[in-house]
Amino acid sequence: MSRKMKAAVYVNKGKVVVREVPIPQIGQAEALIKVECAGICGTDLTIISGNHPRARPPLIIGHELSGEVVEIGEEKTEIKVGDKVTVRPLLSCGKCYACQMGWDHVCQYLRLLGIDVDGAFAEYVKAPLETIHKLPEGVSLDLAALTEPLAVAQHVITVSNLKIGDRVAVIGAGPIGMLVALLARKGGASKIIVSEVNEYRLELARHFGFTIIDASRIDPVSRVFELTNGMGADVVYEVSGTASGTLQMVDMVKIRGEIILVGVHEKPDPTNFTQATFKELVLRGSRVYMKIDYSRAIELLIPEQDNLRSLISHRFGLEKASKGLDLVRQRGKAMKILLKP
Ligand SMILES: [Zn+2]
Ligand SMILES: [Zn+2]
Repeated sequence: MSRKMKAAVYVNKGKVVVREVPIPQIGQAEALIKVECAGICGTDLTIISGNHPRARPPLIIGHELSGEVVEIGEEKTEIKVGDKVTVRPLLSCGKCYACQMGWDHVCQYLRLLGIDVDGAFAEYVKAPLETIHKLPEGVSLDLAALTEPLAVAQHVITVSNLKIGDRVAVIGAGPIGMLVALLARKGGASKIIVSEVNEYRLELARHFGFTIIDASRIDPVSRVFELTNGMGADVVYEVSGTASGTLQMVDMVKIRGEIILVGVHEKPDPTNFTQATFKELVLRGSRVYMKIDYSRAIELLIPEQDNLRSLISHRFGLEKASKGLDLVRQRGKAMKILLKP
């Protein structure tokens, strides 16, 4: 007897349909989770546009989730049926150089739930027990679905050389950019300059108290210099994944400053390496999160709940998955969209 569930399935380029599929069968070291909330992410758009290097249809997308454990494999575990949880959606090989060094988040063969295997835009999802994080008492499951993007930001701030009193610039104010800016403030930045072209996102950044630059009208580089007494930003976080971002970042950062590359550039974008040489810049990438970033992000869910709540722009049932994806693509008035299967 195979039980059925509803799922939003990426079936071919540009197309996601909600249909009945079998409920996943769990293995010994896995658990089945009833999905409460699943966040839509920019990566999901890359997948359905057919431009993701690995994701292939048919696939249930979705890697940001919260829910309740309903079934557990045979392995002995701290996780129990009935636990409210979130999932760190990384599947690493355990054998490559990075994994042996304990950097399994940059595994050479890294795979993700909702990208390489079926994910969370469904009534149920299965996940390896060791990727499941139990939520503390009192955390809302809506906010817990933001653990994943929050952990991305946590990792960004952790790998950066941010110091108390630093003036930082964030290029791109989507959900990740906004979370990076919020955590930079917690990390001691005295001025947080957010550069963005979308009006709705700029308004939200203003609401959070950041110094905003409307990059559709003002040159972000000269504005950053004005705002930093001609010095440039101590740290620049490139979260936009755009060609203008890679050009601006080396210009707006201070001499011997640091650039953290967060945004995913679908194609190689040009930058001015002479600036990197002459200014002795440090360029460093930041990819997903380590287990510790996930644990810390979970600890931030309650203290940061008001800010996190402001990032949720829509909540839809699963049947509106396509509409949600369209809204994220149009950017207009969408920030984080949650699906509630
Ligand atoms: Zn994501
Ligand atoms: Zn590996």
